[in-house]
Amino acid sequence: MNCKQVAKRIPAFLQDELQMRELEAFLEHVEKCPECREELTIQFLVTEGLARLERGEDFDIERDMEMKIQMAKQTIRWRKYMEALSLAMGAVLMCIVTLILIWLVL
Ligand SMILES: [Zn+2]
Repeated sequence: MNCKQVAKRIPAFLQDELQMRELEAFLEHVEKCPECREELTIQFLVTEGLARLERGEDFDIERDMEMKIQMAKQTIRWRKYMEALSLAMGAVLMCIVTLILIWLVL
């Protein structure tokens, strides 16, 4: 993902609307690219910051931004774990079915 593609996806990221694959590429880029990180922080400040100020909550842009990124990474890790788990379950199931078939035949 390049800077242009990242910039286009910032609003979707802030609304938690990015697909898993996109989210992963997005985070990867943002962590390495200071310009996009800055752009993301600005848009985060505008959308999230204003809403919080209205509610009278205190707001630490750096900390909250970091938290949002960490949460997104956690989500990716969790999804990957679930994917791996379902693959493993599928494989185990196949083995069991095969064993039962063999046992029935013999
Ligand atoms: Zn960039």
